[in-house]
Amino acid sequence: MGKGKVVPVIKNECYSMQIEDLNVDGDGVGKIDGYTLFVPGAVPGDRVYVKIVKTNKNYGYARIEEIIAPSQDRCTPSCNVASKCGGCQLQHIKYNAQLEFKKNKVEQTLKRIGGFEDIKVLPTIGMENPDFYRNKAQYPVGEDVHGNIQIGFYANRSHRIVPIETCKIQNEKNDQVIEAVRNYMVDNGVKAYIEETHKGLIRHIVTRYSKHKNVLQVTLVINGRNIPKQEELIKRLTKLEWIEGILLNINCEKTNVILGKETKVIYGKRHIIDTIGDVMYRISPTSFYQVNPVQTEKLYQTALNYAQLTGEEIVWDAYCGIGTIALYLANKAKHVYGVEIVPEAIEDARYNMELNKIENAEFFVGEAEEVIEKKYQEGIIADVIVVDPPRKGCDQKLLDTMINMKPKRVVYVSCDPATLARDVKVLAEGGYEIVEVQPVDMFPHTVHVETIVKLERR
Ligand code: SAH
Repeated sequence: MGKGKVVPVIKNECYSMQIEDLNVDGDGVGKIDGYTLFVPGAVPGDRVYVKIVKTNKNYGYARIEEIIAPSQDRCTPSCNVASKCGGCQLQHIKYNAQLEFKKNKVEQTLKRIGGFEDIKVLPTIGMENPDFYRNKAQYPVGEDVHGNIQIGFYANRSHRIVPIETCKIQNEKNDQVIEAVRNYMVDNGVKAYIEETHKGLIRHIVTRYSKHKNVLQVTLVINGRNIPKQEELIKRLTKLEWIEGILLNINCEKTNVILGKETKVIYGKRHIIDTIGDVMYRISPTSFYQVNPVQTEKLYQTALNYAQLTGEEIVWDAYCGIGTIALYLANKAKHVYGVEIVPEAIEDARYNMELNKIENAEFFVGEAEEVIEKKYQEGIIADVIVVDPPRKGCDQKLLDTMINMKPKRVVYVSCDPATLARDVKVLAEGGYEIVEVQPVDMFPHTVHVETIVKLERR
């Protein structure tokens, strides 16, 4: 739309339109007389009849009233709350088209934010069976207006619980856990936590699953220090023979953050042990661990390929969590160093070193940007640096240190294409060249994408 032009559509009026594209949030995008409209739930190739819900100067939003002719990429979600629950945004799109969407998302973001005009992005590495893949679930617990317990997931951009009985992307064992906790609550008069009043007890049910051992850990996040009739809960949950640990996490704060600081074991083990490739990992309740074990192996294998280790290299694993990538690379490197901000995760990393009889690794607690710079001053100069930051990306100071240190290669693992593009641009200006970009589908049926980038010093 050029300057001075009027918006060609009217709010609350209906129009038919063609969907051409998806935006980064997975909403359909199309135009009416050159005016861009975003249409949630629409698929490129759809011919739709829409009602205009909002108009801004340069773009607007519309809602599907009717699908006139469906796109060939459209499918019917097998989950009956797919359009209500905020968990999956792409279940109405065939899996191959989801993979294509993610590749395009990475490519367009690298172009738009990074200014990389002709970077080739490889096809997204997908899953053979993209369902029931997650090993971690966090179910909010609440009440409906009648006081009935509700367990499910939040609706999109809200804290309203959409109750669910089963979930297409979670482990199916969780369904029985939810049922057991719900029955324990109902039979014993245990109250769900209500955010608005900060009253009630049970806030979240968190589960973690070890795919390798086929065991599950349940953590109840509570607004208190204890639960009534604890033995009742244990009795019900341990009827499920694959339950390996039951934990209580204390969170009495008025906060959106799910886990509190203290976690106590009321049954079984505190830790989960899982295996990726040949490496065993112990995971503490507050440590980060990738949520899709099948795809994690492909991701780490790609990191290993991109690192091109010969056995002579010094390697940094920044944002290392429980030491996953560092230990995955250790056998092929001379020495690996890892840094991570969560102390309990570093305890796991050190434990995991011993568990795997790896001796050429060393782990530090702290901020990657501080520790790597300090160690650089002390003479630790890496040949390869792997970074795997949270969504906000790398701190500028870390990028500066990397550029000064001049490792031969940087392997950037990212869960957010936007911050990836921003950071890779800085590295490119600092003397690095993008060699390869590989999206990996860690989160099928959602708009999220993991990307791994190989950079080499020019
Ligand atoms: N590479 C790991 C973890 C990646 S998640 C894996 O694949 O399992 C990102 C990790 O960065 C989290 O464990 C988080 O606790 C940690 N983190 C966040 N900010 C950090 C910082 N400034 N310095 C070091 N670690 C940080």
